Amino acid sequence: MSWTDRQRAMLEAMGLKLWTPPAAAEAGSPANVAADATAAPAAAPPPRAVPASAPVAGPATRVPPMDAEVAVAEPPPRRAPEPSPRTAPVAAPVLAAAAADAALAQARGLARETIARLDWPGLRDEVAQCRACALCESRKHTVFGVGNERAHWMVVGEAPGEKEDLQGEPFVGAAGQLLDSMLRAIGLGRGEGPPERQVYIANTLKCRPPRNRNPDPAELAQCEPFLQRQIELIQPRIILAMGRFAVQQLLRSQEPIGRLRGRVHRYQGVPLIVTYHPAYLLRNLPDKARAWEDLCLALKTLDESPARPEAGGGSA
Ligand code: URA
Repeated sequence: MSWTDRQRAMLEAMGLKLWTPPAAAEAGSPANVAADATAAPAAAPPPRAVPASAPVAGPATRVPPMDAEVAVAEPPPRRAPEPSPRTAPVAAPVLAAAAADAALAQARGLARETIARLDWPGLRDEVAQCRACALCESRKHTVFGVGNERAHWMVVGEAPGEKEDLQGEPFVGAAGQLLDSMLRAIGLGRGEGPPERQVYIANTLKCRPPRNRNPDPAELAQCEPFLQRQIELIQPRIILAMGRFAVQQLLRSQEPIGRLRGRVHRYQGVPLIVTYHPAYLLRNLPDKARAWEDLCLALKTLDESPARPEAGGGSA
């Protein structure tokens, strides 16, 4: 198969360089794609191109078959461990302190059932004011989410980093730039546009963990109802879960990403595709080819999914 100019441009947008062996090029053999010409993964299959301008539901027949599961170990946690910020010394006996903590948490956090009934403005407000865990002490901004609230696609990432915390928008740093390129490569964006070409981006945590440490299970649990409600309101046709924390939380699984990717999961009935976090891909270029396969699987899955009734329109 040879590459058209458009396919080349699209792969380049994802940071994938085409490599054509000189002899094969002469003989007209298929080109290989490497995430980096100097670090071509011996086992990574060549991703195939889907025109950036093609309708999202179009290219099912050009999507490559998925490999058998690839056992790729997830990256080491990208966040440096750090002592818990809740260090205020408690002089009271342990039991009393625990009871006080629980009461405080209840007072600061909204009940799950209440969150599950909020509309967009209410949800946005609650996130902005949330003081349910200690992350509120160090955050500059909450990071609610961005994109078309009727988008067919939803990306779920992990937690805001420094830039996201400063700007109040998810994925605006280097990982965000790669994410945008990946989305562009399949004709999607987070700005204005028809819902079928748009993606809504949200994180499992709405506040930045100090110094980008790993999210704490209690923080993830506390924040989860917000993400759940976002998903309910958006009713995406497909979810891309990026990175270990997003994947493990949504799927309630402890399996590494390498074991979960390559097949279609479900989150409350919505097809969910597991893929690598863009920050991980920035450090592991050869896995970009696998991330490309995941995007192709998402396209194919969406193509085969029933249409969503569009009545009711968007909300804000
Ligand atoms: N990583 C994430 O998972 N989310 C962001 O918003 C930024 C970086």
